[in-house]
Amino acid sequence: RAKADGRGVYRFFEIQMDAEARERRMLEVELREALKAGEFVLHYQPLVSADDNKPSGFEALIRWNHPIRGMVQPAEFITIAEQIGVIREIGDWTIREACMAASRWPNELLVAVNLSAKHFEASDIAAVVRDALAQSGLSPSRLELEITESLLIECPDEVLAKLTDLKALGVTVAMDDFGTGYSSLSYLLKFPFDKIKIDKSFVAALTEDAVARDILRSIASLGKTLRMHITAEGVETQTQAEFLRKIACTQLQGYYFAKPLSELDLASYLLTHFATVSFTGGSGRRLT
Ligand code: C2E
Ligand code: MG
Ligand code: MG
Ligand code: MG
Repeated sequence: RAKADGRGVYRFFEIQMDAEARERRMLEVELREALKAGEFVLHYQPLVSADDNKPSGFEALIRWNHPIRGMVQPAEFITIAEQIGVIREIGDWTIREACMAASRWPNELLVAVNLSAKHFEASDIAAVVRDALAQSGLSPSRLELEITESLLIECPDEVLAKLTDLKALGVTVAMDDFGTGYSSLSYLLKFPFDKIKIDKSFVAALTEDAVARDILRSIASLGKTLRMHITAEGVETQTQAEFLRKIACTQLQGYYFAKPLSELDLASYLLTHFATVSFTGGSGRRLT
């Protein structure tokens, strides 16, 4: 009897796995077609200056507008796109699309684009960026590329050469999700980053956790020493914003200021907020 039960359970998992494998294969097929079908869209989340809460630019965040599944978030498809090798085409498209969009914004606003490590490794990324800038007419100083630490581990010399080529174009480079990976100080010294983006997990913890506040202070002063800008992502409350401003983060980003905006919402955001933006709030809880 026990044996029969065991087989039954095993059989159940087999069916379950078949279903997951089928679902996964379907996603893969659809993902290969999505670019041609024009199903990807970029949303744009404001990056605000910590001094005056004015937007200094927007981060482009990809979504897959699937005809049946609806808006699919990047966490659900970027890894699969990397595994099946379509991340190159998706990444190239994202860079071109973001540059085209930014070329229509007021001149002082920059656009930040996330680069997958797989895309970065597999392509002549400087050539892709150069072409996107030329096609859109966007000034290189208005494009920022966000990469994560995972990129720096495997072939540091090759990565350094590619980053140097990119920087020679006049674009800036940010280290995204800082603090979640290896975060070796030697990476920060070796690679020519202009900016550190502190991962949102530290920001989420700061209200309750004195250690998180100490870590944030240390990262901020490290950035100052290295003459890098410091952006804090995932800012959801006024209390967080005030603390981060006090420790001299230079840029803030998060739902407290704005969620990622569709292109339509972005247009009205620019109209209503750009000239006279004012987020300066009243009395929030203060942290020391
Ligand atoms: P990321 O670059 O670190 O982007 C920040 C993520 O945090 C975004 O999620 C954003 O919507 C979310 N976020 C912003 N403000 C807040 C907040 O106040 N609270 C919380 N809890 N979350 C906030 P999203 O858009 O789902 O993107 C997730 C990740 O997917 C990104 O992390 C990035 O690594 C990747 N990604 C997004 N777009 C692209 C892309 O075009 N290409 C590549 N290769 N990766 C992308
Ligand atoms: Mg990012
Ligand atoms: Mg991040
Ligand atoms: Mg992230």
